[in-house]
Amino acid sequence: MPARTCIAAETTGYSTGMAGNLRTYRRKRRFDTTSEPRGSDAAPGARWVIQKHAASSLHYDFRIEAEGVLKSWAVPKGPSLDPRDKRLAVPTEDHPLDYAEFEGVIPEGEYGAGTVLVWDTGHYEHLTDEDLDVAEALRRGRVSIWLEGSKLRGGYALTRMGGRDQWLLIKKRDEGSDRRRKPLQKQPKSVLSNSDLDEIAERGPALE
Ligand code: MN
Repeated sequence: MPARTCIAAETTGYSTGMAGNLRTYRRKRRFDTTSEPRGSDAAPGARWVIQKHAASSLHYDFRIEAEGVLKSWAVPKGPSLDPRDKRLAVPTEDHPLDYAEFEGVIPEGEYGAGTVLVWDTGHYEHLTDEDLDVAEALRRGRVSIWLEGSKLRGGYALTRMGGRDQWLLIKKRDEGSDRRRKPLQKQPKSVLSNSDLDEIAERGPALE
């Protein structure tokens, strides 16, 4: 493969990231200046996490485990419990599984600089089709999963629109849908530390 093709494949991140590697994630970070995990080998189970991320703009990072990594989307408005809401989800690079527990400050000047809070996490069940695994459903651009978390519970659909870089995250109609409950506003704190973004930011970047 010519060198130029290799570079292009690495920088597109998402499209090649479906192969399940962490090259893009690692390339964007300097692990001597950020306390984010470097990423270790795969652990069993199917996890998901939503991290509230106060970076250049506030957004929620939705990540689900597949193929040994966390497949990731940035959701500017965060998840909704209302099936009428369509939430834009923009794919970002695969993250290592241990990123699901990351909460803290990404230093100024680093990729994603800002404060990260674990807003909700748990395990999920794949609902799309019993003959498909999650990774294959994601490649086809349509996946349904049941989230078991502390704040979110129930089915969600992730659907790719047209091209590769825009998806929608939509709550399915089930016992977990609710038009009135607003967990983003009413339950803003971390499920790991019960801290809010300001409290996490005050601790500053902590390197081991
Ligand atoms: Mn983010």
